Amino acid sequence: VDRLDLEGVSVSDLTRDELFGRLRDALDRRAQLCLGFCNANMLLKALCTPAYAASLRGFLLVSDGLGIDLCSALFRGRFFRQNLNGTDLIPAFLAAETAPRTLFLLGARPGIAEAAARNLALLYPQHRVVGVRDGYFPAGELEVVLAGINAASPDILLVALGNPGQETFIAEHAHRIDARVLMGVGALLDYAAG
Ligand code: UDP
Repeated sequence: VDRLDLEGVSVSDLTRDELFGRLRDALDRRAQLCLGFCNANMLLKALCTPAYAASLRGFLLVSDGLGIDLCSALFRGRFFRQNLNGTDLIPAFLAAETAPRTLFLLGARPGIAEAAARNLALLYPQHRVVGVRDGYFPAGELEVVLAGINAASPDILLVALGNPGQETFIAEHAHRIDARVLMGVGALLDYAAG
């Protein structure tokens, strides 16, 4: 796969179908995949904060938005083949996915994940939300949150804690999270809540 490599941050040049294939493959093989939608803001934060860049090393990063596309043109001599932003891509993936999948929604203000779960159940009846938790839990409750996710053992964990919080959370805890696809989704739960 072609990629944009900048200071240790590596963004894959995938098409939407290739990305869907990678997600489906991880789900079907029950292998773990950490996915990040890398926009210019996230890239800048990673370039300015080596610890954040290091935490992204285990991720499949895809390109989200015009800013990173311009970066690609500048440093790599070509644009990304497709713009892959999470707020469009995740709903499209869930719609395209006929195999039933389970989801855990982590993040956003209290009540938002519950509302998002109700809407997802209407939109994608083949899938099932098996747990929710808001994104403002105290540090002391981390173990309870992780235990809740693991008890649900979701196929897909959507993490909406903003950048860098969501990718840092995934990078730090993925090894002890029982979920197949883990992805940082920004404000998706707010949108899905309506
Ligand atoms: N969020 C959260 N906990 C936090 C910070 C943010 O749950 O400590 C949620 C926030 O409520 C929103 C999502 O993360 O649903 C994205 O937040 P924001 O737009 O501030 O982050 P960005 O993606 O713009 O960095």
